[in-house]
Amino acid sequence: MVQRLAQQGLRHEAVLKALTEVERHRFVDSALVAQAYEDTALPIGWGQTISKPSVVGRMLELLCAGRSLPLGRVLEIGTGCGYQAALLARLSREVYSMERVRALHERARELLRPLRIANLHLIWGDGMPGYPAGAPYAGIIAAAGGEAIPAAWLEQLEVGARLVAPAEVSGGQQRLVVIERTVTGWQRQELEGVHFVPLQSGVL
Ligand code: SAH
Repeated sequence: MVQRLAQQGLRHEAVLKALTEVERHRFVDSALVAQAYEDTALPIGWGQTISKPSVVGRMLELLCAGRSLPLGRVLEIGTGCGYQAALLARLSREVYSMERVRALHERARELLRPLRIANLHLIWGDGMPGYPAGAPYAGIIAAAGGEAIPAAWLEQLEVGARLVAPAEVSGGQQRLVVIERTVTGWQRQELEGVHFVPLQSGVL
């Protein structure tokens, strides 16, 4: 899987290393294990999916490109099964990962337990307001996309930090958006089209 991602253009060494180290099959249902290393999103229950590896790799590369690693504190919105959270923990000093669906949060906790990742904190809660207790962040990454990027996320970025998230752009299409906080404000870039599950308010 990692070789294919590298052939498709994923270049960031630390990201490739993390993708090699974290076994994706641990995070999918036993009936789907045979597909775990294909470049496809797979269902994880509660209407949610584990993201496509090429998109996970791309987002991690955008988050880390040109910055010294490990990043400081990073916030993830949408733990899902915990796969990307495990990757982020290899690239950052501390990871806070939020999930609004309690059953998924608990499942991620169980799946991650054998990996004993000391710098990963799982939080059951709505990620719309971000997680002020851990702010400011060196990076924020969202695995679910809404109409707009919540202002709270932008406020919780430190200067020089980057946010990578899917969001609706003009025309209603969902694209990857990268926002970097500078001393004077925020710089926004809209990249390729993507298909993420919706960002939803409240907890379940
Ligand atoms: N990071 C996962 C992807 C999970 S899919 C991976 O490694 O594959 C996105 C997740 O975002 C879903 O589990 C969904 O329940 C969650 N989500 C959606 N809106 C949210 C919100 N406001 N706060 C926290 N989690 C949210």
